[in-house]
Order: sequence, then structure tokens, then C-alpha cells
Amino acid sequence: MKVTRIAYSTGLNAGKYAALREQARRLGRVRSEVWQRYGSVTGVGSGLRDRQVRDRWLADGTHVRFGVLANAWKETVRDAMADIAANLASAKLEVRRAIGRRINDPAERKRMLAALAVDRWAADPFLARQMRKHWRRGRSRTDHQIVVRADKYNTVTDGRGRLWLAVPGLERRQMVRIPLSTAVAPTGTLRLILRRGRVEVHYQIDASHMRSSQRPCGGRMVGVDKGYTEALTDSDGTHHGTGLGKLLTAESDRLKERNRRRAKLRSIANTAAARGDHAKAHRITANNLGIVKRDRQAARHRAQVRTEIFTAVHRVIDKAATVVAEDLTKRFAGRKTLGKNINRRLAGWTKGVSAEALRNVSERRGSALVHVNAAYTSQTCHRCGRLGRRGGDRFHCTCCGVVWQADVNAAINILQRAGDPDIALHTPHHVVRQILQDRTDRRRTRLPVQDSSPATAERRANHPNRSTTSKK
Ligand SMILES: [Zn+2]
Repeated sequence: MKVTRIAYSTGLNAGKYAALREQARRLGRVRSEVWQRYGSVTGVGSGLRDRQVRDRWLADGTHVRFGVLANAWKETVRDAMADIAANLASAKLEVRRAIGRRINDPAERKRMLAALAVDRWAADPFLARQMRKHWRRGRSRTDHQIVVRADKYNTVTDGRGRLWLAVPGLERRQMVRIPLSTAVAPTGTLRLILRRGRVEVHYQIDASHMRSSQRPCGGRMVGVDKGYTEALTDSDGTHHGTGLGKLLTAESDRLKERNRRRAKLRSIANTAAARGDHAKAHRITANNLGIVKRDRQAARHRAQVRTEIFTAVHRVIDKAATVVAEDLTKRFAGRKTLGKNINRRLAGWTKGVSAEALRNVSERRGSALVHVNAAYTSQTCHRCGRLGRRGGDRFHCTCCGVVWQADVNAAINILQRAGDPDIALHTPHHVVRQILQDRTDRRRTRLPVQDSSPATAERRANHPNRSTTSKK
């Protein structure tokens, strides 16, 4: 398993940056050509390989008009084809979910999943319709990246200990030397991303070389619930990543304040421009409404949140051989639907990071990750199974007369879902509700009168609300 590392350029001169930028711009045209020609059913969808595309382009001379070296465009073709394939795979994932939701006959479901796996979906009306719905023809506007193969660059450390990375330029045997801010030389295929005068060098290292991968996992089965104040709460009642809420609130407050200030400055600049004072308008735009600092602050915040969440996941896996969790990638709302609400946007984003951390860390450390259907897990009492009410961080069960800590209750329910005979991963929401209701109804008919019967009274006496565990 691979993890991505990023090295940054430091003090790169403007001429070199401009040369790299021009190369990336030309490679951007290669990218959009690939998307346009092969980004659909007849291209990557039909099993076309990047080697075949390269041969075609060499034969018909397509490659000549891009004005880049052979290796640069070939690597870009490979990269763009991989992007298209990933796009197709994520569409298939959506279609698999739709099959789980909509097709009830197990044999039919199996047949459809098989057809989808081998790309024979065009003939089946349901599959074809679903694929059209989820696989929208994409296009690429990426024009700030250069992919460099492992044997096409070299690194040298100069007399002052600075590391230099030399990558091919636009002409043969003309290398561009980039000073890096790290002492560790990047390895393998590189992806150079050019942003605001700086070069980011993305590369992958084998996760087994990371120290954390040597850490063994635990031996138990643990359920986790994803929260906002804490990154995770487990079914033992332990909170992990308790600094997350504070980080997110601080960021949200900072963003709101900054956006307010920027809006004000923008309106001053607009008024100045309307008055004809273009110098002033320009001054404000250039000095006070820049994006370099803003982007760096955002990157720092993202790094802090990732550390918090990854550390939390490591803590859980210290004791777990199997982690049971909600599938956090499911129905992951896009940026658009989340709108301008900063809190919701941040929460949605951390959900994605948590999903990544759970998958990544459990794979590295050898624990299993089990996804379960989490419908109603935060609204059901884990002891009696009855639907109850959640108020803030408490869950109140009227049947047991107990108040649980809401996220601990949810984590225990999630753990129990792993062995649930009736509720499968894709069981629709309303069916889950029905199943839960049926279970409590069954229990109710078995019991004598609920309220004042001696049996109930006795049970209550034996179990006074000792399990009222809501602590703050
Ligand atoms: Zn209960």
C-alpha cells in the first residue's frame, strides 16, 4: 500500500517557474485531448489501454502538435487514462449501490453485479440507465501538472546541503533544476503541481516503510461512531481525537470573520473603481485581497485536522483487530449541496478524511474494516432496541428510563450491526425502521403489562438506573 508525500520548492526563480508552467500548459492540452477522445463508453469504457492510444497517436502524428518531449506526453496520456478509469470505477460504485437498493431478487442482483464487473452493462436497460446517470462525461481542465517517470529525473545535494531536483524541460537534454525544501529525495514517479510560483513534488512511498505500519493492531472487535467534537467514539465509551471540535470551531470562526473583512474591502474597492479611482481599487485587490496567505492558512488547518483524525484512528486500532464503522463515503454530499454554510462544509470534509484514515490505517496495520448500515444507530437504545430520542449529546430511552451518552450508544449499536441477521449494508432506511419496530413489538407482546406489573417493578428494583452514564 502506498502513501503520498509532498516536497516543496524553495526560492525557485521566476524564469524556471515560467518554463515549467508552459510545459504544464501544453500537457494540459494532451490531457483534455485524451478526455475528449477516450473519456466515454467507446474509449476507456471499452477496455482501451494507454499503450494503444500512444501507438495510435504516433501513427497518425497527433503527438506532434503539442510541442513537448515524447516522454512527457506519454506519461500524461497514461495519467489521464488512469483518471478516466477512476472516474468510471466511482460511477460503478454508485451503480452497485443502486442495485443493492432497487433490485430485491438475489439471483438478479448477482447477475447484474457480474455484468457490471466485466463492463457488459450496455445491453441491460437498468444498468445502462444507471451508468448513464452516474457516469457523466467528464473533461479535464488540469493544466498545471507534469508527470515525470522515475528514470527521467535526478537529485543532487549541493555543498550547502540543499537538495536539487532536475526534471526534463521542453527541449531535449535541457533540464530544469528545482531547489527543494527537504533533505529527503523523492522517489518513483513524480507529479509536479505548479501553484503560485511554487512547485509541489508529489510522490508515493510504500507504507510498509513507515514507522506506524510496524505498529501491530489490537485483538478485539470495536465499533466506532464519527462525531464532530471528537473524531471518533468507540463502543467501549472512549473518545478519540477530542481536539477536533475545537479545531473546526476555531477555523469556522476565523473564516467567517475573514470573509466579512474581505467582503468589506471588496466593496470599498468596487466603490473606488466606480468613482474612477482605479489605482486605489487595484491597490486593495493586490495587497489586501490576495490568495497566497489564505491558501497557506487553509493548508495548515487541513494538515492539523488530518493529524487529529489519523491519530484517533491509530488509537482505536491499537486495541482493535476488527473495526466496525458506518460507510462514511456513502451519499457524501458534494460541495454544491452544502452551500455556504461553513460548519456543514467542514463537517462534510472531515467525514471524507475519517473514511480515508479508517481505510488507510487499518490496511497498513493489518486490521479489518467492516462497513455496516448505520441507519437509526443514533436513535435506537442499544440495550432494549427501542427507538428513542436524541437531544444534543444525550440519548434518552423511555423504555429503560436511561440516559446514554449519545455517541457511545451509537458506537455500540454500530458494533451490534456487524452481526445483525436482518439488516444488511444496503437495506433501505425505511426497511431498517420497520425491522426495528417489529422487534420491539415482538418483545412487547411477550411481556406482561408494561407499567405497573410486579414483574416490571421488580426488574426496576434490581436495576436502578445505575447505568445512567451520561457524564460531561
Ligand atoms: Zn432502552
